[in-house]
Amino acid sequence: MNIILFGPPGAGKGTQANFIVKKHNYFQLSTGDLLRNEVKLKTSLGKEIEELISNGKFASDQIVNTLLRKSIVNLKFRDRIIFDGYPRSIVQAKNLDKVLDGFNQNIGKIIFLNVDRQIIEKRIIGRVTCEICNMTLNEFFNKSEIELHPCGKEFLVKRKDDNLQTLIARYDTYITTTKPVLDFYSKNKNFNEIDGSSSIEEITSKINDILKV
Ligand SMILES: [Zn+2]
Repeated sequence: MNIILFGPPGAGKGTQANFIVKKHNYFQLSTGDLLRNEVKLKTSLGKEIEELISNGKFASDQIVNTLLRKSIVNLKFRDRIIFDGYPRSIVQAKNLDKVLDGFNQNIGKIIFLNVDRQIIEKRIIGRVTCEICNMTLNEFFNKSEIELHPCGKEFLVKRKDDNLQTLIARYDTYITTTKPVLDFYSKNKNFNEIDGSSSIEEITSKINDILKV
């Protein structure tokens, strides 16, 4: 069955998508990758996309649909696609249904990893990385692990590039643009919301349960 995975930046969507790809043998379809790949192939469509992007414009729904169709028609990926970062609007959602339907496929599960803004902020502000072993911990969520860190807690430092404002802005943009799409899908019986503030393992196990049904 095909899956759509939603989640704001910082919700751990990438980690969970990787897990689904490996454990359940899925193909992760991100429209960003599709567009970049087409540019790399230097097809006429690829050249068109390159020009749009270099002019600061977005690829049209029509272009995205053409590329989506190419992947959906590929038998290797049949009923094994995770849509990541797509659809971003109701028009795209309806289009996706139409394209899938044309190839006798559908969306089996819609999974939304929901994390509220305060948790995202704490995840960003509290993040410390060990200068010796590179392990990442969080001042709010891993207090005892930090105290007991084998390299010594003095090596756990904050990275300067963890720019809170930028990440929060990305989070807010995601929530605003995705809200209508989520409202659209939430009426669907295949819609599943997961509390993204749980641990990676708990989220993975919930996703496993959803995919088993
Ligand atoms: Zn360390």
